[in-house]
Order: sequence, then structure tokens, then C-alpha cells
Amino acid sequence: MVKAVVGANWGDEGKGKITDMMAENADIVIRFQGGANAGHTIINDYGRFALHTLPSGVFYGHTTSIIGNGVALDIPKLMNEIRSLKDQNVPTPKILVSDRAQMVMPYHVLFDAYEEERLGGKSFGSTKSGIAPFYSDKYSKIGFQVSELFDEEVLKDKVDRVCELKNILLEHLYHKPAIDKQELLDTLHQYRDMIEPYVCDVSSFLDKALKEGKTVLLEGQLGTLKDPDHGIYPMVTSSSTLAAYGAIGAGIPPYEIKQIVTVCKAYSSAVGAGEFVSEIFGDEANELRVRGGDKGEFGATTGRPRRVGWFDCVASKYGCRLQGTTDVAFTVLDVLGYLDEIPVCVGYDIDGDVTTEFPVTTKLAKAKPVLKTLPGWKCDIKGIKKYEDLPENCRNYIEFIEEQIGYPITMVSNGPKRSDIIYRESKLK
Ligand code: GDP
Repeated sequence: MVKAVVGANWGDEGKGKITDMMAENADIVIRFQGGANAGHTIINDYGRFALHTLPSGVFYGHTTSIIGNGVALDIPKLMNEIRSLKDQNVPTPKILVSDRAQMVMPYHVLFDAYEEERLGGKSFGSTKSGIAPFYSDKYSKIGFQVSELFDEEVLKDKVDRVCELKNILLEHLYHKPAIDKQELLDTLHQYRDMIEPYVCDVSSFLDKALKEGKTVLLEGQLGTLKDPDHGIYPMVTSSSTLAAYGAIGAGIPPYEIKQIVTVCKAYSSAVGAGEFVSEIFGDEANELRVRGGDKGEFGATTGRPRRVGWFDCVASKYGCRLQGTTDVAFTVLDVLGYLDEIPVCVGYDIDGDVTTEFPVTTKLAKAKPVLKTLPGWKCDIKGIKKYEDLPENCRNYIEFIEEQIGYPITMVSNGPKRSDIIYRESKLK
């Protein structure tokens, strides 16, 4: 049985916590897309962790953690993460890396920074982790697959070919130092030695595991609105953030994915540039930003302050639809306990027409939020275990949003810890 945990919005919805929680009953947890450009924050008995590449299942002795072929694999960063677990006394997890995963090369990181520099004010707000250059190369068929590290002839030949091309760009477009072929080859040899113990034919491993009845969890990065096809293009990420891509990025049949848990945060936040209709500013935003998440809304990888706003029913309904949601996990609800009234975005006004359908980016740029204000509950809901014990206004907030988005909210997260979770029956299920 395969389950997926994915995001409905711009990312940072709390997927890490939900995956960590669901991993308790999983045998295998897989990252299927993205790279080390975004992070998950996980708080458990071992401490507080920001994971960038490793799946959020690494804290359990019984799970196998897999980095699928769809991931942008940054080997030195992966090694650092493995080391940081050891340093914080987490028992050594079982980790497998797909032999078909491609590697983030040192020059991808440089090209990412050079391109942002060249674009100046028109940049994409990249985290400069090399992700966009990595995926461009993958689809231009000049990427490096992990398997190629183990064939010296193929490797040498490819380094020659790729350096030729990259060095023309470095010299004539960016006016930066050229790549030294030998140095690059030496680095790749180091990568080979570092990654060798983890390399595996992942799709075959998963095929066997599924036949044995194992439970597999697919862990998505970012959310629907950052998907390159269905998101706010071009302010998107470079790999698909949808559960459907889990089948490709892990190497399993699509029909095996039986449960799709889409994580929605009780308010909105976004990192980097791009359309964000329900965004708020000034003191109102500062207060939500500082109170948000478990330590304020600041990026887990970059520390950048996140943009914040009210819950957006239009974007979330769309976000859940594209994921193929079977369950919504509604997170970080406890943070809203300070508000007298809570505005919710229920429609977009585009040139005088109000819609609840999420539009393409050119139209989105003109959208103004239509807000409805709900009464707050003015108390701390952390520690509550039963849905009936939540304050009435809090339940009304959840039920109003469920009705607007049209997908069943079956989990409510009222704190950052694994145990801060309330399961609920939904009329929609
Ligand atoms: P992810 O990338 O989707 O995993 O999300 P992040 O880890 O970047 O952001 C979610 C933040 O919210 C983290 O700091 C979590 O520890 C925190 N978090 C998750 N669920 C809850 C919750 O229900 N309440 C509170 N207060 N914080 C939460």
C-alpha cells in the first residue's frame, strides 16, 4: 500500500511533521522529487532537525529511507545530513539511494548564483542550491546519473563533453572562471566513494516490497502552487510537486497510490517571489510571522522571512484537487488562537468578476482577495486530543474551510510535535 504526503500550497505546510507521524506505521519512506533547496522541520524526542534531502522517516528504527530517482541528489549535503543525525544521537538509519537519481554538480550551484546575478531585479528568488540548472541539464540529457559514477570510461567522456559546453557559457555569458576537468573528475570520484554504500536499484526494491505487502510513504516537497505545470509558472520549482509524480520519481505503478494526504496550513505562507493573493503586510503580517510555525515563519534552509497571509480557499481547493486528495491534514491551527477575528479568502475578484476557480498566472496577477471574517476562539488549543474538545469557533473555522475546499479534513494538527494531532470524522468521506 502506498500513501503520499504532499502540500496544497506554496510549501512549508507542515508536511515534515505529518510524514514523521505517519512514518510510525510505514516500512519505507521515499523522497521522490526536489532537492536540498527546501527543508522540513521535525521535532521529536531526539531534538529539532531541519532535513533537506533525507526523508522524514529517518528517526524510526523500522523504516527504510529512500532517495528516489526523481530527486536532485546533492551528495555532500546528504553526507552532512547523515552526519548531523549521528551527532544528535539518532540511531543510524537504513538509507538507499536510487542508482537512477541524478546528481547536483558543483557547477549547478555556481550557475544558479550566476544566473540570479545576471537577472538582477528580475531574478526568480532561487535558493541557489543548483536545482534549476540541475533539472535543465537532466532534461537536456547532459545530467550525471549515480550509476555513471561506476563506469570510468562513460564518466570521463561525459566530463569532457559537458565541460566544453559549460565553459563556453562561463566564459562568454557569465565572465567567470572555467571548470577544470580533472578537478571535476576528482570530485566525482569522491562522490562515488561517498555514495557507494547506499546505491540501490530502487524500483526493483519497491516492487518486491509492495508484493510483500509493505507500507510505503511518498514524501513531497513544496506544494501544488510550485508545480512547474500546475503552479504559478514561472515562479515555481523545477520538478513536479504532485502526488502523481511520486509514481515516476520513485518508480512504482501509479495505481498503487491509495491514500493522498494533502497538507494545508490554517493560514498561508510563501517563500520567494510569485503571486500570493491573500498576502498581508505590515504589523498584521509581522505578528502572524513571528507567532507562526513552531519558531516563526522563517525558511528552514535559508532563514529567509516567509511572506504570510490568510487562508486561501481558492488556492487550497485547487491545490487539493490537483493532488488527488483523499485526506486533508489541516496544520498549525494553534497559531491562530491570538486573533479576535480571522479573515479567510473565499474568492478572487478579477476585473470585477468573482471566481472560486484558481486561474492561470497572468490572470492571477490581477486577482484581489474576497475575504470573509470568522470569529476567533481566543485560547490555546495545544494539548487538546479530541475534536469535540476544541472550542466551537475553532471547529466552525475548520468546518467552514472544509466546505469551501470540498475535501475531507481528517487530521487537525495543533502543535509541532508528533503527538499534537486530532483525528476527525468528516462528512465528506
Ligand atoms: P514542510 O516543509 O511542509 O515540512 O513545513 P516546514 O517544516 O517548513 O514548516 C512547518 C513548520 O511548522 C515547522 O516549523 C513545524 O515544526 C511547524 N509545525 C508543523 N505543524 C505544526 C502545528 O500544528 N502547530 C505549530 N505551532 N507548528 C507546527
